Amino acid sequence: MGIPKILCADCSAHQKTCCQKRDIYLTPGDVERIKKFTLTENFYEFRTPSDPSYMETDDDPMWSEHVFRSDSSRRVLKQDPFGNCAFLTKNGCAMAINERPLVCRLHPYDYNADGLYERLIPECPVYLLDPGTTLQEAIGLDLNHAFQWHHMLYSEIVLEK
Ligand code: SF4
Ligand code: SF4
Repeated sequence: MGIPKILCADCSAHQKTCCQKRDIYLTPGDVERIKKFTLTENFYEFRTPSDPSYMETDDDPMWSEHVFRSDSSRRVLKQDPFGNCAFLTKNGCAMAINERPLVCRLHPYDYNADGLYERLIPECPVYLLDPGTTLQEAIGLDLNHAFQWHHMLYSEIVLEK
């Protein structure tokens, strides 16, 4: 996610990547943007979280209120039988950064409705980084874009019915 160049390619050789093991929630805005790319709506479904800890969103009541339906499901990207995202190709994501779900664009920033946390989600294999290279540099994280995408994300989750 972000700009997955060298570290993300190395990552896939060492572990399941963030495109292979995560449920990716889609906002109503994501659906509209991705529809322009796919020309179909056959890329999402409603599922309950495979990881029950995902339901523990005490620090983000806005997320709990809007994202989950009454049966605890939410709109997510379809996956293949191995848990790979339907848009994952051997060259990475099939979509350009501005077409991808906002959740993907923000990864591995951690956040709630109030903003971005200083910490990053501890999922990327930082032990593969060259000395002196930060994770932000290695995967092309841009804080200004992240602020914009975070604002879009929380503006769009309130559009959920
Ligand atoms: S987990 Fe981190 S390093 Fe691995 S593919 Fe995702 S963003 Fe890239
Ligand atoms: S949409 Fe792209 S970036 Fe997001 S999980 Fe799927 S392959 Fe990865």
